Amino acid sequence: MHELMIQSINPAQLDEIVGEVVADDAAAVGAAVERARAAQIGWRELGIIRRGRILRACADEVARRAEDLARLMTLEEGKTIGEARGELEGAVETMHYHAGHARDADGRTFPSSTPDELVRTLRVPVGVVAAITPWNFPVQIPAWKVAPALLWGNAVVWKPSTETPMLSQALADALAAAGLPDGVLELVHGDAEAGQALVSHPGVDAVTFTGSVPVGRSIAAITSARGAKVQLELGGHNAAIVCGDVDPVWAASIVVGGAMGGTGQKCTATRRAVAVGDAYEPLLSEIIRQTEALVVGDGMDPATQIGPLVSERAKADVAAAVNAALAEGAQIAAQAQAPAGGAYYPPTILTGDSGLVICREEVFGPVLTVLGVDTVDDAIALANSTPFGLSATVLTHDERTIRRCIERLDAGVVKANAPTTGTELHVPFGGLKDSTYPAPREQNAETVVDFLTWTKSAYTRLVPE
Ligand code: NAD
Repeated sequence: MHELMIQSINPAQLDEIVGEVVADDAAAVGAAVERARAAQIGWRELGIIRRGRILRACADEVARRAEDLARLMTLEEGKTIGEARGELEGAVETMHYHAGHARDADGRTFPSSTPDELVRTLRVPVGVVAAITPWNFPVQIPAWKVAPALLWGNAVVWKPSTETPMLSQALADALAAAGLPDGVLELVHGDAEAGQALVSHPGVDAVTFTGSVPVGRSIAAITSARGAKVQLELGGHNAAIVCGDVDPVWAASIVVGGAMGGTGQKCTATRRAVAVGDAYEPLLSEIIRQTEALVVGDGMDPATQIGPLVSERAKADVAAAVNAALAEGAQIAAQAQAPAGGAYYPPTILTGDSGLVICREEVFGPVLTVLGVDTVDDAIALANSTPFGLSATVLTHDERTIRRCIERLDAGVVKANAPTTGTELHVPFGGLKDSTYPAPREQNAETVVDFLTWTKSAYTRLVPE
């Protein structure tokens, strides 16, 4: 039988093949789920404290291999080596953080109306968790999903993106080398076909997904039809509101950093800067200056600030969205220089009307639209005028405006005087509106445990004497 291969390409050198893996078909995915189901029995029996120790060993092994993994990340995904090293550090800390919860109390006791009866709750693992992840944080997002799932006694079948197969394999190898038992973490490769097979499999008890809205919605339809748990972290269209009382040079650095960091390929990236009143002109001219100064290039070069997009296809998608905006009447206010030869798209600043499609649909790349409004209330209304609700920020000295924005902005993460990007690895994370699904939130150990376990109520009486 002819095997379908997934090829991993270096986006900075499109003629360089980083590696190849075999795409798993539905039968192979099913076999991985069955292996995970079998392994979960022993893993659960091990007890949470011993699982926590193994998880700590996994974190240490990833830390030992961090430089190799970071270089592979830059090679496959394109982000700068500095960004890749930072991501590895975050992933190691995430694993240690979840391992540290092994000794937490895992239930409560309740008074009983029957003398000598003990009434308590306890948590049990859901069973097999499918983790489906995107390419933009190819180690950090899997760490958020896999580490707590394993700690709480689940086995995991992980399907990473087809853009980063070699890195996913290297990460899984590190965990196996650290002593994670066979079958407890199964890696499957493939795109929609493998993903559909995984979420449809009756042996999968819960699905945790990070990616785009349409794929998330299709997964939720399948899991809810068969009664499996689902957790979705989806796209965003995040606004930065800039008031006139802040230094435009500083404000532009927050906005440009939030828009262009990670080549704009972050779900929390700043897509719209909304300037209030007379903030518009000085902000726009500083954003232009800072964008034009950005150094775009191969992420392996330490001088590079902005790497390529993940693939040629991603570049074509961004270019098509910008061209559509120009056809609608948007104007290019600034563009950085980008080298030829890779999946490079120049960081781009647009101006135009807030009704542009690009002002409400997510374009996953280094493109920011700068808009002007008269009042803070207008800015809040504009920020809220997309179906998404992931992150938002307001830049101002005024405490009253900050409180108003925190209350009224439709976003699961709201900041003041900080970029829309970047979150603490242990704080509940998730969006509102189309950016999420009503499930306990990711990242924080206390919220995610409600997704990864079932709570039982146990009534224990003594046999009468
Ligand atoms: P994507 O939705 O195309 O793919 C995500 C994952 O789903 C990949 O592993 C892919 O192979 C798999 N997949 C594709 N079709 C599937 C199907 N029909 N059934 C099951 N699985 C399927 O997203 P992407 O392009 O990899 O990532 C970019 C998107 O992810 C953006 O929309 C971004 O905003 C979002 N994102 C969200 C967060 C968050 O935490 N909210 C974080 C990072 C990225």
